Amino acid sequence: MNILVINAGSSSLKSSLFQTVEGKVETTPLWQAQVDFTYRAGETLIQTRRRGGSWTPFPTSSSQTGIQALAPLFESLWQGEEALLPQVEALAAIGHRVVHGGSLYQRPTLITATVEQTIEQLIPLAPAHNPAALEGIRLLGQLAPGIPQVAVFDTAFHQQMPPAAAFYPLPYTWTEQGIRRYGFHGINHEYCARRAAELLNRPLESLQLITCHLGNGCSLAAIRGGKSVDTTMGYTPLEGLMMGSRSGSVDPGILIHQLRQGMSVEELDRVLNRESGLKGVSGLSSDMRTILEAIEAGHKRAELAFEMFVHRLRSQIGSMLMNLDRLDGLVFSGGIGENSAPVRAATCANLGFLGIQIDPVLNAGSPRNGDISTSDAAVRVLVISAQEDWAIATACLAVLQGQ
Ligand code: ADP
Repeated sequence: MNILVINAGSSSLKSSLFQTVEGKVETTPLWQAQVDFTYRAGETLIQTRRRGGSWTPFPTSSSQTGIQALAPLFESLWQGEEALLPQVEALAAIGHRVVHGGSLYQRPTLITATVEQTIEQLIPLAPAHNPAALEGIRLLGQLAPGIPQVAVFDTAFHQQMPPAAAFYPLPYTWTEQGIRRYGFHGINHEYCARRAAELLNRPLESLQLITCHLGNGCSLAAIRGGKSVDTTMGYTPLEGLMMGSRSGSVDPGILIHQLRQGMSVEELDRVLNRESGLKGVSGLSSDMRTILEAIEAGHKRAELAFEMFVHRLRSQIGSMLMNLDRLDGLVFSGGIGENSAPVRAATCANLGFLGIQIDPVLNAGSPRNGDISTSDAAVRVLVISAQEDWAIATACLAVLQGQ
């Protein structure tokens, strides 16, 4: 079976074509594409590669813009001399990452006209992301009519959080209107929990874990027996940890103050989402690599940004911990979690009293999927490489198989 995955974001799109062998999705995709819609003013960069080889540019069509311009990219999979598939019908399913599924969707879902409408109705909750997913669903609906499309939601994994964790201490009528904590990055938190169980060679049902997804956006999940019981992101992906350019949680009184001072809602939105976090504090960049390089060069505000990032991360790991009655594993994932040994070292420093102790040599090696704790530590600290597209393809396969 061939499964095409589309992961459309606000300014970029990633796509992968996977094959299944003996009922499992192969880990190396047959084909991958990455699209940067903001490469240069008015210019889109499309690159493709086969079987994990090197990336090569794919010519862009100048007449179309946005996701519509990607029609030739997808059609090249089943049309032309280089086509990987004999015809479009060779696709068993198309899986889409959809950031917001609201309270309605707890599982990957076959996309029908109703599901499509619901994703559209949820746009106010994810204005940067749900429209892109919807455009992708519509484009593939035109290009590959009749091929089942599946929505895999970033919110779904957290939908079973208990009300005490999911609701805000606001008037209950607001909660009834849907103002509650949804949580995000669920595809990767769930994947990390399953992968941790494999690496530890223990059943997922027996494990109590904290997973740290640290990329441009950052969130934590407390996971008991494979179920998310708390997470740091909330109604929107702005709550919780300090991130690349997002503030994470701050005193809402500050926002009231700024609005009273005459700041517009749009400006407040921009500052909190794009001008805060590592970027806002350091004045340099939202990119952790730049922050670490600047610290080496003696940049004081970069150092402050790093210390604040770690302080908030540790505080919220502490908060996740209180949802569990023991901790079996602490998982680091996402661009920062997988690659930044200094962030992992600072996060785990002096936590021996919790049973967390990492081996500096193993940590410095940043294993792709591996255990970096000392052999006698009670808590296993794992680094797990995010495989979002593979996880989406696997979810699609489960939907096709009626699971
Ligand atoms: P996204 O959330 O957009 O998928 P990623 O998961 O790719 O983003 O994470 C991007 C973050 O990962 C950036 O802050 C980047 O600096 C950081 N990162 C990537 N490689 C390294 C590295 N070697 N050391 C430290 N940070 C890194």
